[in-house]
Amino acid sequence: MRFYVTTPIYYVNDVPSIGHAYTTFAADALARFHRLRGDDVFFLTGLDENSQKTVQAARSRGAQGRDAIQKYADEMAGTWKQAWRILGVTNDGFIRTTEQRHADVVKSFYGRVKAKGDVYKGVYEGLYCDGCEAFVNESDLIDGKCPLHKTEPKRLREENYFFKLTRYADAVLRHIEANPDFIKPETRRNEVAAFIKAGLKDVSVSRPNQGWGIPLPDDDSQCFWVWFDALLNYISGAPADAWPAQAQLMAKDIIKFHCVIWPAMLLSAEYALPKTIVAHGFLTVNGQKMSKSLGNAIDPIALSRKYSVDALRYFLFREISFGADGDFNEKSLVERHDAELANAFGNFAYRSLSFINAKTDSLVPEIADASLTPEDEEFRKKTSEICGVVGKEFEACELKAAVDASMRFADECNRFFNAREPWALFKGSGAQPVEARNVLALSASAAYALALCLSPITPTASQRVFDCFGASGAKAPRWGDLTPAGSGSRIAKPEIVVPKLALDEKKKK
Ligand SMILES: [Zn+2]
Repeated sequence: MRFYVTTPIYYVNDVPSIGHAYTTFAADALARFHRLRGDDVFFLTGLDENSQKTVQAARSRGAQGRDAIQKYADEMAGTWKQAWRILGVTNDGFIRTTEQRHADVVKSFYGRVKAKGDVYKGVYEGLYCDGCEAFVNESDLIDGKCPLHKTEPKRLREENYFFKLTRYADAVLRHIEANPDFIKPETRRNEVAAFIKAGLKDVSVSRPNQGWGIPLPDDDSQCFWVWFDALLNYISGAPADAWPAQAQLMAKDIIKFHCVIWPAMLLSAEYALPKTIVAHGFLTVNGQKMSKSLGNAIDPIALSRKYSVDALRYFLFREISFGADGDFNEKSLVERHDAELANAFGNFAYRSLSFINAKTDSLVPEIADASLTPEDEEFRKKTSEICGVVGKEFEACELKAAVDASMRFADECNRFFNAREPWALFKGSGAQPVEARNVLALSASAAYALALCLSPITPTASQRVFDCFGASGAKAPRWGDLTPAGSGSRIAKPEIVVPKLALDEKKKK
């Protein structure tokens, strides 16, 4: 199966924040899951560089002229790429909208829309929010200000080319209603449907050329409106046969562009629609809205160095229901990490592997079926089913549900290990009692299954478990395949799987 997943392209003049990281980690987790399943994955992220924000930011640093602005964008793009490398993000593609390959796609796509009779010239008169980079309706304002940017939009009157969005309103609405998975979560789907039903207006394809952006091929006094241009990154940034995307992830503030304008553009140019658009909520920090002016914007790189990338990812997807708003706070990050990831997952894996290392000469014992207790049988069944249970959640982009199901299984693992007391079973005899050997064999495959289930979220910790089993090359981890941890496998001496953060804090003092 082909699995194409995207993040939005971020403004090149921004710095990577915890919000950007949240979206990108989510796409990364889905990409990692589908790779483990053996799917043909393409994971795209990138940068929106054709915005007037790029020009303003470059000018504020003294850059004058196209080349200087491009140089600024090049430097910033380097910062973004490096951030994703530090954060362990496994994107396959990276698109910048100032690339020629992007301009080529925008122009040819525009040609198809125009040939369809969906472009006309007109005059736009209305309010424009620089933050949104879009015309806004008077009725959407709160106290005369854009509710997202808290700034007063400016009144504009300008010549634009327009796209006949209204022509596709019914078709888009029908698609949304016929495909419950097209927009997730349901609250966002209802919001978009209500927005379309309230009546759409045609949108701009272009704005007057201000010396930056992609000029229209047939009228260079105009440049493509940045949203029309930006949305096309999903086609220009991927291999020619990748489209349609299976999952397009984003924060909820840009769903109208993605769930109304984007599908209409695709219908007009006769491209397939993406399978699922998933909008996540906003993050607050210690209960407060994050903003540059409040000075509480969180740097994900600093956090990942203070804790770990795994700790950050685990917290975001365990704590916050994917789709809802959520609060980020470091105290619960540390608590959850230590109590759950380190204690429930890390400790179980480390204990069971250490036992095998010490008691059975590092060989996962053969299971003696005749000696399995009913409790053993039940645990064996749960282990064999867990990848199926967790996999269904990843397939549905339900990241918190995937982590929750994995951690319920981690609790089962600990209950089993503590109830079966392999240390007591080994006591008093130099030989290896068959019941004890069974418990260790069952625990080994459970530890491996748990590492698999969590690996899209906590790749580093899971890799420590895989390494212990020598799971690489021909034995590389595959979703649902527990054979690398099967009877007769030889394990390496285990290392601590998940070092505790609170302990690390003490060590630093
Ligand atoms: Zn705005």
